[in-house]
Amino acid sequence: MLQNKNIILSNYKNFIEQIIEEDLKKGYKRDELCFRFPPEPNGYLHIGHVKAITLNFELGKQYNAPVNLRFDDTNPVKENSHFVNEIKNNIKWLGYKWSKICYASDYFEQLYKWAHHLILNDKAYIDSQASEQIALQKGTPTNPGTNSPFRNRPQEESTRLFTEMRDGKHKEGSHVLRAKIKMDSQNMLMRDPVMYRILYKDHHRTGSNWCIYPMYDWAHGESDYIEKISHSLCTLEFKPHRDLYEWFLDQLPKKNKKKPKQREFARLNMSYTVMSKRKLSYLIENKIVSSWDDPRMPTISGMIKRGYPAQALINFVKKAGIAKRENTIDVSLLEFFVKEELNKTCPRVMVVTDAIKLIIINYPEGKHEMLEAINNPEDEHQGKREIVFSRHLYIEREDFRETANRKFFRLAIGKEVRLKNAYIIKAEKCIKNENGDVLEVHCTYDPKSKSGSNSEESQRKVKGTIHWVDINSSIDVKINEYDRLFLKEKPEENDDLLKSINKDSKKLIIGKSEKFSLSFTKGQKVQFQRKGYYIVDENQHGIISFNKTVGLRDGWKK
Ligand code: ATP
Ligand code: MG
Repeated sequence: MLQNKNIILSNYKNFIEQIIEEDLKKGYKRDELCFRFPPEPNGYLHIGHVKAITLNFELGKQYNAPVNLRFDDTNPVKENSHFVNEIKNNIKWLGYKWSKICYASDYFEQLYKWAHHLILNDKAYIDSQASEQIALQKGTPTNPGTNSPFRNRPQEESTRLFTEMRDGKHKEGSHVLRAKIKMDSQNMLMRDPVMYRILYKDHHRTGSNWCIYPMYDWAHGESDYIEKISHSLCTLEFKPHRDLYEWFLDQLPKKNKKKPKQREFARLNMSYTVMSKRKLSYLIENKIVSSWDDPRMPTISGMIKRGYPAQALINFVKKAGIAKRENTIDVSLLEFFVKEELNKTCPRVMVVTDAIKLIIINYPEGKHEMLEAINNPEDEHQGKREIVFSRHLYIEREDFRETANRKFFRLAIGKEVRLKNAYIIKAEKCIKNENGDVLEVHCTYDPKSKSGSNSEESQRKVKGTIHWVDINSSIDVKINEYDRLFLKEKPEENDDLLKSINKDSKKLIIGKSEKFSLSFTKGQKVQFQRKGYYIVDENQHGIISFNKTVGLRDGWKK
C-alpha cells in the first residue's frame, strides 16, 4: 500500500457521519448541526488531537456547520495562557478556522447558578468529608458504594455552604459539592460524583474571582449545551461518562431545547511514540527532550519544527480513519505522507554529511567551471541553478569502498559512477591514514561525459550516481540529525518509559553544502539529494542550521 503514491482517501461514510445522517432523517435540521474541538490548555496538542480536530472541522465543512474552539479550562492548576495561544496557532497552522472561540471559564457563573438549581431540586448536596473518606465509600465495580452521612443534609444548609464556599469562607478540602445520583449504580461514575471543589488558585482568565472550580464532567456537557453543540464527539475513554453527561443535562432548568449528543470514537495511537500529555511532560521533566516543541515530540509544534507539512498530518489522520476500535498506526505511514508532500515542493540541494576528499587528477589545478542543476525535477517553476565543479571535491564516505561486491553501485577502485549533474569518474586509488581510514580518493574524469550535453558520451549509462560538493566554494552547515525518540514499537509496554528511549535520537553534525543553502530562510524545507528532507532551523550571519525531517529511505524497516 505504501508504494501506491496516489492513495485514494475513501469516500464511504464513517460511523459518526452515519449517526449524523440518521439524525437528519429523524428531523434534525441542517442548521442545527454544530461541532466543537475542546482542548484542555494544559499542554501542547499532539498528532492524536489532529485526528479530533480534523474530524470536527471536516464535519463542519461537509455540513456547512459551525465548529467552535472551546477551551475546557476548569483546572487552573495545570492550565495557562501560553498553552491557549499555542493551541490556537496550531489549529490555524493546520488550516482550520473556528467559528467561535469559547472558554468553559466563561460559563462559571452560569454553571454555578445551575449547581444551585440542582441543590434546590435535591439533586446535589455539600459533602463535608475528607476526599479520602469519600473515595473509600465509592465501592468497587462489584460492590456498591456507601451513602455519605451528609447525603440527606437539608437543602438550605447545602445552599448556604455552597455560597460560603464561593465566598472563600472555607478551607481547601473541607467541603465538596456532589451530585445526588445513586451510590449503588453499576456505573461507578454515577455514584454521587463531585461537581465542585475548593481551590485557592488563580485562573489564567478569571484571575482570583473564583475559589471553587467545576469538575470536568459537570462543565463539559453543560458547555456543549450552552453553545448548542449538536454532536459532542470525544474519545472512547469517555464512553462510561455518557450516562453522567446525559444525567446532568436532564437536571438543567430548561429542558425544551435539544440536548447535545455525546458519541465516542477510538483514539489515534501511533507506533514508536507516546501520546498522552502527562507522558510527554514526563519526557520534558526528565530532560529527554528540550521542550514541548522539540522536533522529536509527537506534538504539532514539534512536527512544525521537524518540517512536517500540515497536509501530511491531515492526510495521515484521514487515512487512519474514524472507528470504534482502538488500534495503533505505524509511524512510517505518517512519514510516507510527509515525504509525499515534500517531494512535490522541496528544492534539491547537494550536501555531504560525512565528507572525504575526492581529487580528480586529470582535471587542471586552479580551474573551475559552472554546471547547471535543476532545482526540483517535480516542479519546473523552481528553475535551475549553477554549481561549481573543480579538481577538489567532497563526497560521502559511505559512497566509496576500496573493493566492492556486485551489489555496490557506488564508487570503488576501478569502477565508474556519475557525479550528479556533472561527469562520470573512475576511482584510481585511495590514500589512508595509519588506522586505515580513507582520507582521499583519487580518480579520473571523462571530459566528454558532462551531464545535459547531447554528446553520445554524456548519455553513457553507468550504474550509480552520487552527490558531491566543490571544496573551495562549499560552506559548513549545522545539521540536527533527528531520529525516532523510542526504540520500541510500543514504548508504554515498559514499566518505565525511559527504558525505551533511543539515545541516538539527536546528533549534531557539520555537513558540507553547496552555496545554494545560503539562500534559504528559516522554515524553508529542502531535500538533501540522496539523503532526506530537512528544514532550515536558523540562518543568521551566514551560519545555517537544519533539522532533519525524514530520510529518503526508511532505515527502520525490519
Ligand atoms: P491526552 O489524553 O493525550 O493527555 P487529553 O484527552 O487529555 O489528551 P484534551 O485536551 O482533553 O486532551 O483533548 C481534546 C480533545 O482531543 C478531546 O475531545 C479528546 O477526546 C481528543 N483527543 C485526545 N487525544 C486523542 C487521540 N489520541 N486521538 C484522538 N483524539 C484525541
Ligand atoms: Mg484526557
